[in-house]
Amino acid sequence: MAFSDEFAEGSFPFFREQARFRSLLEPKTAPELEALAQEAHDLTAQFFGKTVRLFAPLYLSNECVNVCRYCGFSRSNPILRLTLNPEEVEREARCLAEQGFRSILLVAGEHPKWVTPGYVASCIRKIRPYFPSIAIEIAPLEAEEYREIVDAGAEGVVVYQETYLPEAYSSLHLSGPKRDFVWRLQAPERAYRAGFRRIGIGALLGLAPWRQDAFALAAHAAWLLKHAWRSYLTISLPRLRPAAGGFSPEYPVSDRELVQLHCALRILFPQVGLVLSTREAPSLRDRLIPLGVTMVSAGSRTDPGGYTSAGRDRLHRTARGRVEPPTPVESAAEATGQFAISDERSPWAIADRIRELGYEPVWKDWEECLANVSSA
Ligand code: SF4
Repeated sequence: MAFSDEFAEGSFPFFREQARFRSLLEPKTAPELEALAQEAHDLTAQFFGKTVRLFAPLYLSNECVNVCRYCGFSRSNPILRLTLNPEEVEREARCLAEQGFRSILLVAGEHPKWVTPGYVASCIRKIRPYFPSIAIEIAPLEAEEYREIVDAGAEGVVVYQETYLPEAYSSLHLSGPKRDFVWRLQAPERAYRAGFRRIGIGALLGLAPWRQDAFALAAHAAWLLKHAWRSYLTISLPRLRPAAGGFSPEYPVSDRELVQLHCALRILFPQVGLVLSTREAPSLRDRLIPLGVTMVSAGSRTDPGGYTSAGRDRLHRTARGRVEPPTPVESAAEATGQFAISDERSPWAIADRIRELGYEPVWKDWEECLANVSSA
């Protein structure tokens, strides 16, 4: 039975620890939260040692045919757009490799004309010599299309459900293929069948009541751990950040609640990777590392060409699918980013801070990271 079928039935017999997880999510006093944090810290040390893996996102394209109310790339936003060609992607990738990164996440909006599986595969083949670890965060694909991308050299895929609450989902995704909630929910299973070795899931916090989303996300994780066990599972808990379009979160999640949720997931799934992006402020990122975070992005740009200005001469303004040339002022500008970054420290500053916290920043590939852990 697919997870989407279990989800539709609303009962999760495979999620044995659901009562415990619900109790971990209940409001906590300060001493109770402290006890959770200690348990999460101890489990992280036991399962991951003192390593934190660094990666960088590389945006291929900010073209998108979907209207998602919360996203800067939404088709309805009149923003400066760009799709990098594979040579420009290589230029960006080389810049990140020179900074020390060996793990990269290729990100793109959903555009069936520009961001095809063949295009993504070409980009991967270009950057494969620089990166032993390549993951993608693009629109959900058919298993066959995912296979083309695995064959090109990607080993990881990230598909956030955004919100697991179907009503909220349909009120936030106003048009485009992304409106299909179930197609998206089934994407990790298709990716698994296609051979991805690392699968990332998550919810975008702020779109719906967080405890409900967290419970469904945990059920999804429990299902994948049981049925997609040959792949390594990661979970990410991004919070909404300011973006073009000016959407403000209806269900904001506080720092304290975010800490509690990280601890709860670490306690329930001690073996799962927890990923933290530069959406969060430096002080909070530093605080979350000892509590279970195992992968952090660093030095991130969320605009295509953001690292090297690649492709800037082809910038154009697109709103509702209508392409307009940029004004002279805009021609000298950058493509619009997906959201505002909160942690603007350089990758080296972040690596230094990780060391100060008593952890080893790992720039290399996943196996090497795990080998370091098992010998720690
Ligand atoms: S969230 Fe993804 S699909 Fe939606 S507008 Fe942004 S890039 Fe497009």
